[in-house]
Amino acid sequence: MYILKLKTGFSAAHQLTNAYDEKCNASIHGHNWKVLVEIKTEKLINNMVIDFKKIKEIIDELDHKNLNEVLDFEPTAELIAKYIYDKLVDFLLKNKKIEIIVTVWEADNASITYFE
Ligand SMILES: [Zn+2]
Repeated sequence: MYILKLKTGFSAAHQLTNAYDEKCNASIHGHNWKVLVEIKTEKLINNMVIDFKKIKEIIDELDHKNLNEVLDFEPTAELIAKYIYDKLVDFLLKNKKIEIIVTVWEADNASITYFE
């Protein structure tokens, strides 16, 4: 079994319409989002789990963006984690025996983990 872990991040703004957290409210504001991608697999493709660069590419698409403009859903940390997960699933579809776990930190002490 192999476990890939990539820690990276991106800086981006968002605005939430249904915010119930006073600090993360309806005003547009930015975060330095941190992301941890973990991929577990027994089977390698081209002797790799996945090229680290491919994961970076998916996440770099969000860097220095207004997430409300580039994503077609409300950009909560929850849905951003699922978005990155889904992009990785699309790419890794040919490898059925994989487990993907994506954690997104909106702040140092606040994270969301998504997996299926
Ligand atoms: Zn926020």
